[in-house]
This record gives sequence, structure tokens and C-alpha cells, in this order.
Amino acid sequence: MKKTVKDIDVKGKRALVRCDFNVPMQDGTITDDIRITSALPTIRYLTEHGAKVILMSHMGRPKGEAKMEFSLKPVADRLSELLDQEIQFISVPQVVDQQVIEAARQLEEGQILLLENVRFRKEETKNEAGFSKELAQLGDFFVNDAFGTAHRAHCSTAGVADYLPAVSGFLIEKEVQFLGEALEAPQRPFVAIMGGAKVGDKIPVIENLLKKVDTLVIGGGMSYTFFKAMGLEIGTSILDAESVELAGQLIKRAEKAGVKLMLPVDVVCAKEFDNSSEAMTCGRDSIPADQMGMDIGPESIQTISQELAKAKTVVWNGPMGVFEMPNFAQGTKAVAESLANSEATTIIGGGDSAAAVEQFGYGDKMTHISTGGGASLEFLEGKTLPGIAVLEEK
Ligand code: AMP
Repeated sequence: MKKTVKDIDVKGKRALVRCDFNVPMQDGTITDDIRITSALPTIRYLTEHGAKVILMSHMGRPKGEAKMEFSLKPVADRLSELLDQEIQFISVPQVVDQQVIEAARQLEEGQILLLENVRFRKEETKNEAGFSKELAQLGDFFVNDAFGTAHRAHCSTAGVADYLPAVSGFLIEKEVQFLGEALEAPQRPFVAIMGGAKVGDKIPVIENLLKKVDTLVIGGGMSYTFFKAMGLEIGTSILDAESVELAGQLIKRAEKAGVKLMLPVDVVCAKEFDNSSEAMTCGRDSIPADQMGMDIGPESIQTISQELAKAKTVVWNGPMGVFEMPNFAQGTKAVAESLANSEATTIIGGGDSAAAVEQFGYGDKMTHISTGGGASLEFLEGKTLPGIAVLEEK
């Protein structure tokens, strides 16, 4: 177990906290502040317990330059509103300069200073020791609460821990608890649902999950690569030709491991990748040559829902179809609904499945929705995340 802010004495000390404030923006306005609200419990705990708080984050990809469209100023304003407290924000291209060092030194207990976008410095993503040291001098200890970037070894996510005691915030604690428990000691039956378009990205995850789960459901765009491996005709459906052989091996591996592998038995097809293109349902072995699979069909929905009804733990990553188009969202919606009505521990990997669950209004019905798409995938892959590895053990 990793130490958290609760395991150390924070009073009077300077807490250097890495958050994930990489919020979506449009015309200088934050369009969704969930990443900021998710960070509040840790920030509040620290200020309420007398710490002096220095926050840091990245936003977007300024690629090592101080491009002001990626400034964290809007985040400073929103944070100040949410906490009903003044947030000191010093915007300098170097992120850390004499003025910032002085401001961090002069913070009083309960006060908050936000640094400028750490990716204004090109050293950040290279995890260069010089910038890690510059950041580390601002604090007495390091708190990582940015799960979304925990799979990256950058100065602000991992490098600073070479110079400071490092503990986790509540967000990372929660992610590790839910994702970790699901993988290490799941209540069974344990079902994983994988979907989405990019098979290549998800093959290592499927490989790891095959060692853990009782049932693996595969849907979405990646099913067609598996169908191809089974010798089926897939019309103009999305195909990852390079992964066909691996998909065939995974089918065999599932059989050997005694894992029930469920692929769609029917699909909803269309001629064009367009919501207004006429939809038709067909069996997976009769996809017309001029059509592409856009969603799982009604029979698949029924069998998958029955399987989910028996599950005690479910991990879901990736939509069952092109859920952004209402005519092809039924499969994804049905899975979200089954999970919402389930008694099982339900864990939603970040990214598109998290967006889908929220879009259908089931967000508060899930046990845990991960805040990191890439990070949760790497976790499910069984990899050690650098931003978590650097944290001290209890
Ligand atoms: P990923 O980034 O791999 O999780 O893929 C998510 C994307 O997969 C979403 O934008 C979906 O629209 C897309 N997707 C799901 N099913 C299909 C499909 N049958 N054909 C094409 N794209 C799909």
C-alpha cells in the first residue's frame, strides 16, 4: 500500500502537488471541470490540515514553449471559485523563477499557489533532473494526485520524487484501490468488456486480462479483426490487419485458459460511416460486402446483458459501437444500462467508455469511473505506472 497525505504530518509544511488540470477548453473557457473538482478532496485536506500548497499541472501540448493558449490561468480562476479562496497564480515562461521560489517560501498555512503549465518547459516530458530539482526546491514533500498522467515518467509526475518524500493524493489512492483490487482479488464471476476501435493498443490489456477474468466480452470496432481471424467476411468494417494473427492467438489462448470469450453474434451495419446511413442487422457470418459493422446487434446485447447480470466484478473499456452516432449507440447504451442495474463492482476505464456512461446519465450508478484513459489501460495491462512507483510504501 502506498502512503497517502494522511500518513504524514503536513502541518506547516510545503506540499508540492501534481494535479491533472488538463481540462477541455473552448475559446478560453473550460468546457468540463471534472478534473478540477476531482482534485479538490486532496487540496482541501491539505489546506485544512495546515499545509502550504503549491499546485502544478500540464495542459495540452505546448511542446516546451510558453504558448499562452495553454496557460493555466483559467484553471486558477475556476479553482478559486470552487474553493472560495484566493489562488496565487504566477505565470512565467520558465514556470519556476526567483519570484515563484520567493512566493512558495512566503506561503502561509492554508494558502495555495498554482504554477504555470509545466509543459512550457521542454525538460518536463524528458524527465530531466535539472527541472525536477527546480520544482522540488519549492516543496517539503511531493503529492501525486494526477492519475491521468501517472503512466508518464515526467519531471512533475516522477522526477521530483528523487528529491522529496512522495505520497499519493486521494484520487490516485482511489484509482489504485479499485483497479488494483479488481485485478488482484476480484469477486467472481469477473467479466471484462473491451471495445473501441484500436485493437493494437488493447491487445496487451486483453493478454493480461485473460489471466484474470472468467469472461471476456469483445465488442466495438475491434471485433472485426477477431472476425477476420475466425475466417469471417467483414465487408468494409474497420480492420487492424496487422493484429489479425494476434487476435487468432488470443482466441486460442482464451480457450486454453478456460476463459469464456464472447464476441458479438450479430451486428448493425451501414453503407456509410454516417448516422443517417440506413442501418440493417445481420448475423456476424453474413455481413454484406458493401456494408460496415457499426454496432453490436440485439441478440448480442441480450447475451452480453445476461452474462453481466451474473457478474460480481466488471471492468469496461471501450464502446460497443460508434456511440457518438445515435443510430449506432444502442449496444453501448445497453451495456451501460446493464452495469447501472447491476449489484456488481463496476469499474469504467477512462476515455470513451467513461464519456458514454456519463452521456447516458449513468455516471453515479457505477462503482468507479477512472479519470485516466491511457493510465487505466496501462494499469489493466499489468504495467507499473512511473508516477505511482515513486510513491513511498506504508
Ligand atoms: P478507442 O479509442 O480504441 O477506445 O476507440 C473508441 C472509438 O471507437 C469511438 O470513437 C467509437 O466511435 C469507435 N468505434 C466503436 N465501434 C466502432 C465500429 N464498429 N467501427 C468504427 N469505429 C468504432
